[in-house]
Amino acid sequence: MQVFRQFFIASFPFSKLLALALLALAAALALPSLGSAQAPVVAPEDVSTPTPTPLALPSPAPAPTGPDFAAPQPMARTLHLAGDAPVTYTVQPGDTLFSVALEMGLDLTDVPCAVAPTFTVEQPLVIGDVLSAPPANVLCHEVAPGETVESIAARYRVDPAQIRSLPWNRLPAEGEAALVPRTHLRVPLILSPGRTAIDADLDFLLTMLNMPVDTSPFIVFAQKSASRKPTTPIGPVPADWPYGSGRFTWPVYGWLSQGYRFDHRAIDIAAPQGTPVTAADRGIVIRAGWNNQGYGRFVVIDHQIDYVTLYAHLDRIFVQEGEVVGQGQVIGTVGSTGNSTGPHLHFEIRDFGRLTNPLELLTAP
Ligand SMILES: [Zn+2]
Repeated sequence: MQVFRQFFIASFPFSKLLALALLALAAALALPSLGSAQAPVVAPEDVSTPTPTPLALPSPAPAPTGPDFAAPQPMARTLHLAGDAPVTYTVQPGDTLFSVALEMGLDLTDVPCAVAPTFTVEQPLVIGDVLSAPPANVLCHEVAPGETVESIAARYRVDPAQIRSLPWNRLPAEGEAALVPRTHLRVPLILSPGRTAIDADLDFLLTMLNMPVDTSPFIVFAQKSASRKPTTPIGPVPADWPYGSGRFTWPVYGWLSQGYRFDHRAIDIAAPQGTPVTAADRGIVIRAGWNNQGYGRFVVIDHQIDYVTLYAHLDRIFVQEGEVVGQGQVIGTVGSTGNSTGPHLHFEIRDFGRLTNPLELLTAP
């Protein structure tokens, strides 16, 4: 989503931005419980009794005050809960940017900002290096030729001092440092004081993007199924056919307990421990085992059509790496392993390594 936002903020005229903000508001009105406090996980006994809470419109975040820019507050990028220790990962033999993104739960484009500010994607990863995930409210920017801290700050509508204040960037507090093209800067997404009305629109949009989405799958189905194009079934395929259809089915029957947000680019589906988890599409298992960075026991399936799906916190795993699985095949069971507060499936869809909103790709049941 940061990629999306980067494009979005950089390229969209603000009339469009405002229109999108209004769209987001319209979406908010369609949801029953935006703005309500949300438990991280819905207990299984609550699953069958959805109780919509009264609509509460979000109020935009208050503008920062004070003569100086406050140091950006890091916001934990976590699988589920804020306030966890930063996610670190030690580079293993054979690792690539893609495998590191999977292990750390990062978008592929954010991995360079877990390595070092001097890192370029042409450089090899160093075995044994300890990588640290950037906070969720930080954007990873690849420096283009001719760019300066000022021009980058202007692009993201933040103050240059906020970029310089991040120790990770290793920039001098004053003066223009020469930036090396292809290296990376962390850009905090915090708006500076003294904003214009246009800034307020952006602020509101960011507020909307930051809202936890707590809604029922039934509403989601109603929203999404209307615009979905029908797909043509390709018929039976050989057992070892490794290619997915691009038409994803729900991996577990349960309750949507966490939606897709900037700091949780996945969905959580709560279900009783032991509920079967199925492959959302045909593909090859590229990971089946334990992950130390919070996923717990997890399975990753490469659908060979640019899409990869990830299933985390599993109790049991029934597949092995290298195995071809069919759509709907049981690959494991719901559990609460890793960074999890109760039985649920954490489900990601990655498109070319970029985390996308599964709700926009899952078919209605
Ligand atoms: Zn999750």
